[in-house]
Amino acid sequence: LQRANQGVQSLSPYQAGKPIEELERELGITNIIKLASNENPFGFPASAKKAIQDQLDNLTRYPDSNGFSLKQTIAKKFGLKPEQITLGNGSNDLVELFAHTFVSEGDEVIFSKYAFIVYPLITKAINATAREIPAKDWGHDLEAFIAAINDKTKLIYISNPNNPTGNFLTHAEIDNFLAKVRSDIIVVLDEAYTEFTAKEERVDSFGLLKKYPNLVVSRSLSKAYGLAGLRIGYAVANEEITGLLNRVRQPFNVNSLALAAAVAVLNDDAFVEKTAENNRKELKRYEAFCQKHGLKYIPSKGNFITIDFEKAAAPINDALLRKGVIVRPIAGYGMPNHLRISVGLPEENDRLFEALLEILGL
Ligand code: PMP
Repeated sequence: LQRANQGVQSLSPYQAGKPIEELERELGITNIIKLASNENPFGFPASAKKAIQDQLDNLTRYPDSNGFSLKQTIAKKFGLKPEQITLGNGSNDLVELFAHTFVSEGDEVIFSKYAFIVYPLITKAINATAREIPAKDWGHDLEAFIAAINDKTKLIYISNPNNPTGNFLTHAEIDNFLAKVRSDIIVVLDEAYTEFTAKEERVDSFGLLKKYPNLVVSRSLSKAYGLAGLRIGYAVANEEITGLLNRVRQPFNVNSLALAAAVAVLNDDAFVEKTAENNRKELKRYEAFCQKHGLKYIPSKGNFITIDFEKAAAPINDALLRKGVIVRPIAGYGMPNHLRISVGLPEENDRLFEALLEILGL
């Protein structure tokens, strides 16, 4: 342990959702469902599969380090300039890149309690000081964020919708917050789940970039776009910030298959709309299920719902696993009574409902 840097000594490894194959091996059964990692329940998009097949003969070459085609695609889709875009090996890579670019040892990074666990992980790994702000109704308390800002503050992470709670901040709340933050502090708006929020409710985050030069918006292609296994995300900021990120970014951080698949799926609106529509309907069924059976839950704008069992959730999780249903325990987030459940296809959700009713004796 002493070999690790001081910050690393205080860390615990990230706990990912249990892979289906692992539970298959453990239980010796095959009909397992995984509602644990907020993945796309429709599986890998056909448009991306075709793009990948077309790339297979090209894998001897390094990928396009600047991601020309993908940046063009993103820029065109959202009315941005390619020079505003940074590509990442998943948005996790970007979350880390922001800290490496803007934060030195001893600086302070602000984020919310119960926000995405990679924020404290990377902050501590670079020996910066984590200012974890107590949550308000499980979500971000932006007034407390403002109060926590001091001379050492360099970076603020906001996850919207927030993982693992699904809490959501409105455009006006984000706008008002940004107006109060010093412009030398970088604010990262992590929108990994934004496609699941109704269009009319979404934050116009790219619009806010025009007003706030210290804003960085981060997006993922792992969720609504269904490319989790390929690892790709993108960040949008002004050209100056993007230039700084590009100094630190590893030259070939995104592979050729991911680049090609991302272009295809960003042009595949039907796939994303089908995904969001299923999520909207099924999230309502989760809420109705919880209400009917007296289960507490946190209202969510993401593709998951977090249920409060008001008692230790670990035995419930174990019982679900024995029934071949993988969900996500979040005791590591300081939420030992909750389980986070990713919204699946209707038949997967039915199986989860049935299993929970049996386990809870409802
Ligand atoms: N941000 C948030 C809020 C997330 O929940 C996740 C996925 N767990 C990520 C970023 C990273 O996703 P990816 O690296 O797959 O893009």
